[in-house]
Amino acid sequence: MHRILALMILLPACSNRAPRPETAAAGPASKSPEATSMSDTVHKTPEEWRAQLTPEQYRVAREKGTEPAFTGKYWDAKAKGIYKCVCCGRELFSSETKYRSGTGWPSFYEPVDPKAVKEVADRTLGTVRTEVVCSRCDAHLGHVFDDGPDPTGQRYCLNSASLHLEQGKPAEEAREKE
Ligand SMILES: [Zn+2]
Repeated sequence: MHRILALMILLPACSNRAPRPETAAAGPASKSPEATSMSDTVHKTPEEWRAQLTPEQYRVAREKGTEPAFTGKYWDAKAKGIYKCVCCGRELFSSETKYRSGTGWPSFYEPVDPKAVKEVADRTLGTVRTEVVCSRCDAHLGHVFDDGPDPTGQRYCLNSASLHLEQGKPAEEAREKE
């Protein structure tokens, strides 16, 4: 009897540790740091984008178009470098994370920085897909799927028309040499 009593006292003592109330109740005040980073965005009128881009780049990047598979500039590209946003030049993906997906579109398993891209629910075509856009200028880049390779399991399936490859050393190698 004593043992059972002791257990009954001990058990709640152990379980007391686990559920700890979340102290940081995120109030409206915690949103202020985000507001400062909003200044790093690029906004242009359709006319300004048209003047800067080719008709195909404009159709894909600014009007959420999709280039036909196996036709883009980069689906089979193997050159090393950084893929930048064709609209605003933000560094988006490294050739180090590009892989052969067999889809006919350039595919990557992760962006250079999680903040480089934004993910948006896309409900066109009767399904919910995740659209990937440039975090600086909202250019449409492509979609992300969760059937990619290790280490992330993500497949960023992009349009060549939304990208510009700046050839050279990938960012990581360049940093090591400094
Ligand atoms: Zn951009």
